Amino acid sequence: MSNEITLNEKNRNHLKADCENCFGLCCVALPYGKSADFPFDKDGGTPCRNLQTNYLCGIHNDLRTKGFRGCVAYDCFGAGQKVSQFTYKGNDWRENPTSRKEMFDVFPIMQQLHEMLWYLSETLTLEAAQPIYSEVQAILEETEDFTRQSSEFFLTINITEHRAKVNDLLLRTSELVRAKISNQQKQFIRGKDLIGANLRRKNLRGANLRGALLIAADLREADLRMADLIGADFRDADLSGANLTGSLFLTQAQVNAAKGDMKTKLPIALTIPAHWR
Ligand code: SF4
Repeated sequence: MSNEITLNEKNRNHLKADCENCFGLCCVALPYGKSADFPFDKDGGTPCRNLQTNYLCGIHNDLRTKGFRGCVAYDCFGAGQKVSQFTYKGNDWRENPTSRKEMFDVFPIMQQLHEMLWYLSETLTLEAAQPIYSEVQAILEETEDFTRQSSEFFLTINITEHRAKVNDLLLRTSELVRAKISNQQKQFIRGKDLIGANLRRKNLRGANLRGALLIAADLREADLRMADLIGADFRDADLSGANLTGSLFLTQAQVNAAKGDMKTKLPIALTIPAHWR
């Protein structure tokens, strides 16, 4: 099984951002509002003032200290390079102004599809989810097929409907993986306001933290193994020394938004952010 896990984790490498093969799409296509995560308003379709002509960020190493924490936390799941190099075959928006708006509309759809691929691929690494592997594999292949379609396709797809089908499988995966966790433990958190909560050293093993607001929560040395973390908001949560191995549906973006240290244990597919070192 461990070899299969390694293989499937390798299969998620194409779902990680490769900025050098992207036309800076997240820095152009998306709108940003002035907030604690971004210091000025930027309209969708307008290049960020920090984007260089080579499509890389001019302040990449200083994003957090300069007030661009949202950029550190953003993850396109590899959609940027897919749109740039596959859908538009390396023809960038500066040289092809006629496809510019369409490319910017395609990018957020591709991002959602790649995010779904991330979660579905993870499901195929989970032994407990074997009873639904064939269903997961089928929708994973359907989703991958969507990502390989022409640009016109993206503007017609019902992404909400497709996401609902994927979510149903992710929920079933979560139930299968956490089947042996007691109901009391599984439901411990759901529906609670956890902003700034003191959860230090808390046993949250197998807890349902789907979409939980954990902003600035103290999760130091907490046990989050097998916890369902899909969509949980970890901005400024302190994960120092916490154990998140075997947690479900955690993304690099969530980790990048949190605090932590070299003692934090992450799932194998994720890496310790630079600001934790
Ligand atoms: S600050 Fe850098 S990473 Fe953030 S949007 Fe601007 S160019 Fe992109």
